[in-house]
Amino acid sequence: MILGVMEFEDKQLTEASVQMISLAQEVATGIGDELIACVIGGNDCAELTDQLGSYGVAKAIITADERLENYAPVAWASVVSQVVADKKPAMVMTAGTDKGNEFMTHLAAMTGQPMASNITAVAGGEPFRITRSRWGGGLLEESTLDGSCKLLTTALDVIEPKEADGQVAVDTQTFTPTLTDKDFRVRLVRKEAEVVEGVTLKTAEVVVSGGRGVGSSEAFAILEQLAGLLNGAVGCSRVATNNGWRPHSDQVGLTGTRISPKLYIACGISGAIQHLSGCKGAEKIMVINKDPEAAFFRKADYGVVGDLHEVIPAIIEQLRM
Ligand code: FAD
Repeated sequence: MILGVMEFEDKQLTEASVQMISLAQEVATGIGDELIACVIGGNDCAELTDQLGSYGVAKAIITADERLENYAPVAWASVVSQVVADKKPAMVMTAGTDKGNEFMTHLAAMTGQPMASNITAVAGGEPFRITRSRWGGGLLEESTLDGSCKLLTTALDVIEPKEADGQVAVDTQTFTPTLTDKDFRVRLVRKEAEVVEGVTLKTAEVVVSGGRGVGSSEAFAILEQLAGLLNGAVGCSRVATNNGWRPHSDQVGLTGTRISPKLYIACGISGAIQHLSGCKGAEKIMVINKDPEAAFFRKADYGVVGDLHEVIPAIIEQLRM
C-alpha cells in the first residue's frame, strides 16, 4: 500500500499535493498496489475528500483533531508514524514542500526508515529504485532505497497533475492518533499573508529580473519602470535578496519562486544553475549582461551585451515612443 500525505490551504488541496498524488496514483497502478490518501488537519478536513475523488483517489484516512488545525512538524510526523504502524504501507509519499520535507525528516528519525527527497519517478522493484532531481534539475540521479517503508517527497513543478476521467467515490476512514503536548512544542501560531496588488511574480506574463549587476535597491527603479510598461512583475537573483535590495518573495530560483512567464528578461544576472532552475519554464529568455561570456547567454533566445543601466533606459525610451 502507498500512503500519500496531503497538504491543503483554505480547504483546497495544494498544487504540490495534487502533483504528488498524481505520481503516487501512477506508481500504485504500475505496481498493482493500493493508494490511500492521508489528510491531517482540524475537524473540518473531511471536506477535502471530494477533491481527492477528482484525482482518482478511492480511499482516504482522515486524522482530524482540533490541535492539528495548524501545522506542527513533530505532531504530523507522529500521526503518520502511527498510521504507518497500523497500515504498514510500502511507501509514504508527500509533496517536497518545506513542510513536506520537514515532517518527513522527523518521520524518518522516528521510524528509522530511509527518506529520499525530490523524487521525479519511482521504478520500485528489488532493490527499490527511484529517480530524483538534483542540482536544481540539472541532474537526474538514480538511487536505491533499502527499508520496509520508503519515505519519499516529490519534486515540485515537475509532475503533471492528472485528474481522473470521472469523479471517484472516496471510502473514508477516520484515524484517531495519540498526541501529547510535546508533539506541539513547534507549531504554527500565526500566518501573515503578503498583500499583493496587480500582477504577481508567479502569474506575470513578463518578468524583468535583476541581479548583482543592478548594483543597489534604488537602481531597481528602471526595472520596475520596464516591468510596468510591459504589464509585468519584477524578480531578482539571490544576490539581490542577500544584499537586501529586494524582498525574498521576489527571488527567482531553486530557493525562490519557480516561474514560467512568456518572457523573462534577466538583467545583470550571471545564470547560475540555481537561478536557472527557477526560470527555465519561461517561453522566451532575454539576457542583458555586460559580459559576453556570461553563462546565461547560452540559455537566451535574445541577448544584449551591454551595461543594463544604458540598455534598459534605451528600451524604455523606445517603448514610450
Ligand atoms: P553574479 O553571479 O555575481 O552575476 C552578476 C552578473 O551581472 C555578471 O554576469 C556580470 O557580468 C553582470 N553585470 C554586472 N554589472 C552589470 C551591468 N552594469 N550591466 C549588465 N550586466 C552586469 N540564486 C538565485 O538567483 N536564486 C536562487 O533561488 C538560488 N538558490 C541557491 C541555492 C543554493 C543551495 C545555492 C548554493 C545557491 C543559490 N543561489 C541562488 C545562488 C547562485 O548560485 C548564484 O550565486 C546567484 O544566482 C548569482 O546571482 P547574480 O547572477 O545576481 O550574481
